Amino acid sequence: MSNYPSHFSSDLLLTILSQAKTATAIHSTDEMIIETANDAMIAVWGKDKSVIGKPIEEALPELKGQPFLSLLQSVLHTGQTIAGSDTMAELVFDGERKPFYFDFEYRAIKNDAGEIICVLHTATDVTARYLSRRREMELESELQAANEELAATNEELAAANEELAAANEEMSSSNEELASTLEELTVTNEELAESQEILQTLNYNLAESEARFRAVVIQAPVGVCIIRAHDLMIQDVNDAYLQVVGRERAAMQGRTIWQAVPEAAAAYAPIMNNVINTGLAYSAKEHELQLLRNGEYQSVFVNFVYEPVRFEDDSVKAVMVVTVDVTEQVVARRQVEAAEEMLRLAIDSANMGTWMANLDTDALTISDQARKIHGIPPGVETTLTHSLGLIASQHTERVSNAIEQAIKNNSGFEIEYIINPMDGAKPRWLKATGKAYYDDQDNPVSVSGTMIDITESKAYDQQKDDFISIASHELKTPVTSLKAALQLLDRMKTNPSPQILPKLIEQSNRSMDKISTLIEDLLNLSRMNEGQLKLDKTQFTIAEMLNQCCNHVRVVGKHELILQGDEELQIIADEHRIDQVIVNMVNNAVKYAPNSKQIFFNVEKAGDMARISVRDTGPGIAPDKLSHLFERYYRTDASGYQNSGLGLGLYISAEIIRKHGGEIGVDSELGKGSTFWFTLPL
Ligand code: ADP
Repeated sequence: MSNYPSHFSSDLLLTILSQAKTATAIHSTDEMIIETANDAMIAVWGKDKSVIGKPIEEALPELKGQPFLSLLQSVLHTGQTIAGSDTMAELVFDGERKPFYFDFEYRAIKNDAGEIICVLHTATDVTARYLSRRREMELESELQAANEELAATNEELAAANEELAAANEEMSSSNEELASTLEELTVTNEELAESQEILQTLNYNLAESEARFRAVVIQAPVGVCIIRAHDLMIQDVNDAYLQVVGRERAAMQGRTIWQAVPEAAAAYAPIMNNVINTGLAYSAKEHELQLLRNGEYQSVFVNFVYEPVRFEDDSVKAVMVVTVDVTEQVVARRQVEAAEEMLRLAIDSANMGTWMANLDTDALTISDQARKIHGIPPGVETTLTHSLGLIASQHTERVSNAIEQAIKNNSGFEIEYIINPMDGAKPRWLKATGKAYYDDQDNPVSVSGTMIDITESKAYDQQKDDFISIASHELKTPVTSLKAALQLLDRMKTNPSPQILPKLIEQSNRSMDKISTLIEDLLNLSRMNEGQLKLDKTQFTIAEMLNQCCNHVRVVGKHELILQGDEELQIIADEHRIDQVIVNMVNNAVKYAPNSKQIFFNVEKAGDMARISVRDTGPGIAPDKLSHLFERYYRTDASGYQNSGLGLGLYISAEIIRKHGGEIGVDSELGKGSTFWFTLPL
């Protein structure tokens, strides 16, 4: 007690404490003895005054396990005040442990030196306050919960209300619907009645249309036969069908189709079965079949359809066969096709090209041959304008005019002109024909025709012209010389000169020989042209013939004829014609190789042929000319008149040898000479 502040006496303090309403106690530092406690505190504790002077642990054993003892200890040690409010303490009251709630404070009391001398413990029992506040809080939360519930209930109520409203609405609309359904029902009823009426009319119409359909079938210009699907019995057949199959009506009635037309069964029964099974129609064009028409097999072409006729459930009830006999058309078309094919073959074999110009588009359609003639590569499209551009300028206008005139006058044309082929080949002569074609309104649509390459025949014509002028010239020379000789003879007829007379006679004979040779050549030519070269074959020895021929050359003495080879070889041939061939070759050697002193004959056996040749040592012939020597009218010196001749000798020779079944040819080298040879079968 001596430790209390000096200005308060401990008794005064106690008096203050005892009168204080607040429960107060003072705990000493050692063992936390309850130094003093006022009545209020003792009441709080539920004890009596005996607790004073006892350690608190002892006085209030129930505090064991509760935080207060350690709190008190901590204040004693640290000097820090600890306070709490609404803090629960369990105390024993009337022997019963009960919870109480306090606002309390443990405050360390210090002396002037700052040392803790005791702890002032104040406590206010706030159990009632606490409990009432707790109750209040509980009530509040209950209220809130109640409020919340109320709100939820309200919401539910609102929703229920809404539903109710909706249900109301629905009800009213259901009512409306009901009303409209009723209305509809009445309408439907009315409609039903109407439909029934229509159905009745339809039924009537159906019967009528079936009758009409039958009438149509009967009168149809095409053959119609209706065949029941399940047993193939013929239900209906019209006259046109009877005509196609060549049967009497009686032969069809009460029969199946294949009983009625058995010859078609093999080919057509499977097709009809398929139509019945699949329900799919079948149609065919230009089927060829053998039909027994009026007791006779005939080849017939038909177009036909097998059309399924259905029940309401879609199954096939019948097959309607619709057929047309197209035999006449097919035969006619085939004839036209055959004729066209023949025409095409003829055109092809004549090397003729065809062309067709579309006047609308200018497009030119040309055959392969026409394309070849114009040198237009395959696949390259061409136009009339373009092809006119290939025509040699001097002929363009003439061709254009011919086409124009043909269009204007609906006439044909035939025209010859030169073209410069597109591929750069040599110019060609063409002969083209054409004709214009018109549509229903008489507008020209196209021009078409043929064309043929006449380059060769043009060249041949040229040769012929040349030949005529050469032949006239050739004939004129000996005739002039003969005429001169005759004039002289005429003048000296009263007093003939013995020196000149024989010369004139010789000159006349030579001229006559020349004339008769020329005439002989011309005759041979025309004979050959007419295919009248007749051979008069005999057996002879070749060497003997060679020795006897060409005496005119031997007489003149300018050339020596030397025979080499097999002198015994014999052949069977026309001796006169072979002699002619040899004479021509020797004459040519004399003419074209005048400086070749010697002319060699050679005879040899080559297999089963005799090979005879005439060789000179003259100037020879250029290689590019060799292949033409045996052509008609061909002369290496075509322009000049250096050497007389018609260009016929070798041509005639070649014909003679060919006719004998032999070959003819020439080997020549420029500057070394030429060897003309031919072979004859032994
Ligand atoms: P032609 O003698 O009347 O002209 P041919 O048909 O007999 O006619 O001869 C054709 C051409 O062959 C002659 O024009 C000539 O150019 C050439 N020819 C023929 N034989 C010889 C030869 N031996 N040497 C050189 N050229 C020849």
